[in-house]
Amino acid sequence: MINHSSGLNHKHSSEKTLFNKILVANRGEIALRIMQTCREMGISTVAVYSTVDAESMHVKYADEAVCIGPALSRESYLNIPRIIAAAEVTNADAIHPGYGFLAENADFAEVCASVNIKFIGPTATMINQMGDKNTAKSTMIFAGVPVVPGSPGLVTDLQQAIETAQRTGYPVIIKPTAGGGGKGMRVVTEDSQMEKALNTARSEAEQSFGNSGVYIEKYLENPRHVEIQILSDQHGNTIHLGERDCTVQRRHQKLIEETPSPVVDEALRKKMGDAAVAAARAINYEGAGTIEFLLDKHKDFYFMEMNTRIQVEHPVTEERYDVDLVKEQILIAAGESIEGRNFIPKGHSIECRINAEDPEHSFRPSPGQLQVFHTPGGHGVRVDSHAYASYVVPSNYDSMIAKLIVTAHSRDEAIARMSRALDEFIVVGIKTTIPFHKQVMHSSVFQSGDFDTSFLESFRYEKK
Ligand code: ADP
Repeated sequence: MINHSSGLNHKHSSEKTLFNKILVANRGEIALRIMQTCREMGISTVAVYSTVDAESMHVKYADEAVCIGPALSRESYLNIPRIIAAAEVTNADAIHPGYGFLAENADFAEVCASVNIKFIGPTATMINQMGDKNTAKSTMIFAGVPVVPGSPGLVTDLQQAIETAQRTGYPVIIKPTAGGGGKGMRVVTEDSQMEKALNTARSEAEQSFGNSGVYIEKYLENPRHVEIQILSDQHGNTIHLGERDCTVQRRHQKLIEETPSPVVDEALRKKMGDAAVAAARAINYEGAGTIEFLLDKHKDFYFMEMNTRIQVEHPVTEERYDVDLVKEQILIAAGESIEGRNFIPKGHSIECRINAEDPEHSFRPSPGQLQVFHTPGGHGVRVDSHAYASYVVPSNYDSMIAKLIVTAHSRDEAIARMSRALDEFIVVGIKTTIPFHKQVMHSSVFQSGDFDTSFLESFRYEKK
């Protein structure tokens, strides 16, 4: 165990300490991001890490750090007994799970509760109600929230799959009920493709998520992905903090997010916000959460899923609403009320995910050592990253090495600011998605704001 306590007292005298010590059960930029807020709040931090992450910034930054196992996630970041042991050994009174790994694992939330460590997020019951996407849809139908039409439950046999597809009309999409990160989804356009697609989807789901359950939805053509950020406290108050537009995706995975959405006006924001608040209230939700919708060209929207955690793209909301969402999560977990809180939006914020991937070779992973890592700065620029020069990006985890977030008065100004910030961002040693993002910022389609989730399929990346 490493103890980095310098004897410095980080506590703000004006701020009462809600938790003394928070263990962050995650790695990379989000672990660091959470610890930064803890430090501002006067809360000590504990990092956990796998052997390949020993030199990671989140380990260096934390007050204490505990090695919990080898690179394999199952033996480290997904290993509940080891994480709980680390929390007990260090006397942490709360655990923040970040996103990914155990963030939406109901068993983990349950175990934390049973050993009297506060899980910063919803209860196991709430995670269960929303974690299984198919159950979540049923809950939403009950709450009167519009959902994408599809199978009433999980689809187990071919006959049932074909019947559902014929009823909703082709094309349809087969989705894993335990899914995440755009993995394991299959689009089917006619009966004859169904058998093969169903079998592949089921076995992929089993492999990726340990759960072969799949369901079928109508495949909406040319939708936008628009999601609503909500905050719910333990006293029955829920508010929303507007939308994030995550329509720029590659293979169903988000690459660029922004708020406000170029297509959402005040009336639609209110409608979607009200639906999201109703969704959270339907399960007496507690914490920060996101309700994901697909928005079609008629401005009709359909519930897709709820993420019961902080999301990768949360900083754009933080910038536009001038709020620290991690701080809100901690305050809510400590029992504080959000009643009467009013967040006033201002400006336009965009995030580009900088991944260690090679856009010239179909985005294949590009791990390795960073020789130069020079981040942009200046007015309206924020970089959330755990990387630094000489850091070795391991091949074992997610390829994201930084999030570049810019904020300006208008969308046009934000795009101009993002372009100049990307120009200033210098990474030497590995390939990154920086050159790709530069080209997207210069594309007239992106600038027009008029595109859908298929945008990148027709986008031509010019190799250097
Ligand atoms: P994950 O949780 O794996 O990210 P989502 O359910 O959030 O999966 O879907 C990811 C993306 O896949 C969506 O943003 C959208 O672009 C596409 N998608 C999912 N369901 C549909 C659908 N029914 N019709 C059209 N596109 C869909």
